[in-house]
Amino acid sequence: MKVHLVYAHPEPTSFNGALRDLAVSTLSERGHTVVQSDLYAMDFDPVPRRSDFQHVAEAQRFHLWTEQGHAAEHGCFSPMLAEEMAKLSSADLLLLQFPWWWFGIPAILKGWIDKVFAYGYAYGMGRMYEKGVFRGKRALVSLTTGGPPEVYSERGANGPIGVYLKAILHGMLQFVGMDVLPPFVAYAVPFASDEVRAQYLDEFRARLETVESTVPLPL
Ligand SMILES: Cc1cc2nc3c(=O)[nH]c(=O)nc-3n(C[C@H](O)[C@H](O)[C@H](O)COP(=O)(O)OP(=O)(O)OC[C@H]3O[C@@H](n4cnc5c(N)ncnc54)[C@H](O)[C@@H]3O)c2cc1C
Repeated sequence: MKVHLVYAHPEPTSFNGALRDLAVSTLSERGHTVVQSDLYAMDFDPVPRRSDFQHVAEAQRFHLWTEQGHAAEHGCFSPMLAEEMAKLSSADLLLLQFPWWWFGIPAILKGWIDKVFAYGYAYGMGRMYEKGVFRGKRALVSLTTGGPPEVYSERGANGPIGVYLKAILHGMLQFVGMDVLPPFVAYAVPFASDEVRAQYLDEFRARLETVESTVPLPL
């Protein structure tokens, strides 16, 4: 499989960094090819700008949907975005690795989605969900939290994390047609014992080893 690993953590020695390194080594050992987008190392710009396009459809106003559709049609995304899209297009599996920040994905990763899952390229009228552009690709979301499992339980203070993950699993990944695997969540990693963190690494390795055969979530 060709794997596109999108990693959104500013510190390589973080637990997210350990999960990223484990993904690269485990997948490579099993014969998969891993291409990375290390968003902070790349200094990825998450803000939509006219400079995301080599030439624009409308000079008078900046309308992102219009410019994305125009760029998809005319092949005029900036070289940086074109490169990210090429990595995604050739991947069989998209792997997102990130810490859970304010009940969601870090802004740099949200900006990557906003720009790379561009209208006209990643979706369009009548090209979503079962008819999505990326049918046949798999997606795996791996995240870490500060909160322990109990605050994410049915009656916990935060409530089930699946409620919030739906925006990513369904609203982003299934929306563009991907087969989305059950997410991997490592809870409370800053507060967990060394044994629990080691267990999370073992569980993640096992998930990576079966990534080709894991049954996706229902749409
Ligand atoms: C802006 C912001 C918003 C946040 N919002 C939320 C929220 O809404 N909900 C929530 O639950 N949490 C929230 N958090 C907490 C956040 O989710 C956690 O801090 C984050 O998930 C921890 O992941 P990390 O990779 O940064 O861990 P780190 O803090 O880098 O690492 C955790 C521990 O793992 C150790 N470690 C590193 N490598 C290894 C290894 N190979 N083996 C074993 N141990 C290792 C580190 O030394 C450290 O002790 C927020 C944090 C921030 C900064």
